[in-house]
Amino acid sequence: MSIKQVLVTGATGKTGSIVYQKLKQDQNFKVKGFARSPEKAQELFGSTENFYFGDIKDPQSLTEALKGCQALVILTSAAPKMTAPPQPGERPQFEYVSDGTPELVDYQGQKNQIDTAIAAGIEQIVLVGSMGGTNENHPLNMMGNGKILIWKRQAEEYLVNSGIKYTIIRAGGLLDQPGGVRKLLLGDNDELLINPPDDIPTSIPRADVAETVVQALKEPSAINKAFDLMSYPEADADSITQDFAALFAQTTAAKF
Ligand code: NAP
Repeated sequence: MSIKQVLVTGATGKTGSIVYQKLKQDQNFKVKGFARSPEKAQELFGSTENFYFGDIKDPQSLTEALKGCQALVILTSAAPKMTAPPQPGERPQFEYVSDGTPELVDYQGQKNQIDTAIAAGIEQIVLVGSMGGTNENHPLNMMGNGKILIWKRQAEEYLVNSGIKYTIIRAGGLLDQPGGVRKLLLGDNDELLINPPDDIPTSIPRADVAETVVQALKEPSAINKAFDLMSYPEADADSITQDFAALFAQTTAAKF
C-alpha cells in the first residue's frame, strides 16, 4: 500500500485523538488533524504540528487542511451540556449551545466536510456515527430536543448519495477501556440494539472504534459499507478480533 495522507476531524475529541495517534504511529499513513482549539491540541499531543484549526460550520476553514489528502476521517459531533445538576430523584436535563446543535454540527457540519473533501479530490471518507438512528424516540434524540441521531443519519445518507467511497461505522455506547482485547461484532440498522446476543451490553471501547477506522482505511473490503459496531465483553485470547478484512467482508452497503 502506498502512503495515504489522511485528515482526521474532531482530532481533539476522545475517539478522534486515538485515531490521530494510531495513524501517526503507522508508517502506511501521513496524518493531519483538524480541530477548534490549538490549546487543546497542544495539551493532548504536546505540539500543534500537522494540525489545522477551524470550524466545520465554515467549509472554507477545511480547504487548506484537506489539500494533498486521499482520505478523510469524520469524528466530529455535537455535545449536549447538562443545564443544571439534577434534583434528587430527577433525571438530568441537557441542552445544546445555539451554534452547536446537532442540525448545525452533525448534519450541516458533516455535509460541509463531505462537500469540501469531494471538491479537494479526496478518494475515501470514513465516518463514525452512532447506533440508534433508526429510532426517532431513542433517548439520545430527546436529549436537548436535538434529534442528534436523526441528523447524524441524514448526514450518512448524504455521504452515501455523494458517490465517494465510504465506510460508515455506527458505534454502540463508547467506553474508555483498553482496545485490542475483545471480539468485535457488526450488525445492521440497529438490529443488535433490539436483540443483542446473550443480552451483552451494546458498547465498545473507543480504542476499538479507532482501530476499526484505521483498518477501514487499509482494507478494500471496508469500501462502501455501513455497519453497527459493538464488542463482546473482554474475550479469551483466541477470539479477539484480528482479521478486519474478514470482519468487513460480513457487511453490506448502507440501507436507509
Ligand atoms: P467527542 O469526544 O465528543 O468529540 C467530538 C469532536 O468534535 C471534538 O473534538 C469537538 O471539538 C469536535 N467538534 C464539535 N463541534 C465542532 C465544530 N463546530 N467544528 C470543529 N470540530 C467540532 O466524541 P466521542 O465521544 O469520541 O464520540 C465519537 C463519535 O461517536 C461521535 O460521533 C459520537 O456521537 C459517536 N458515539 C458516541 C457514543 C457515546 O457513548 N458517547 C456512542 C455511540 C456513538 P473539541 O475537541 O474542541 O470539543
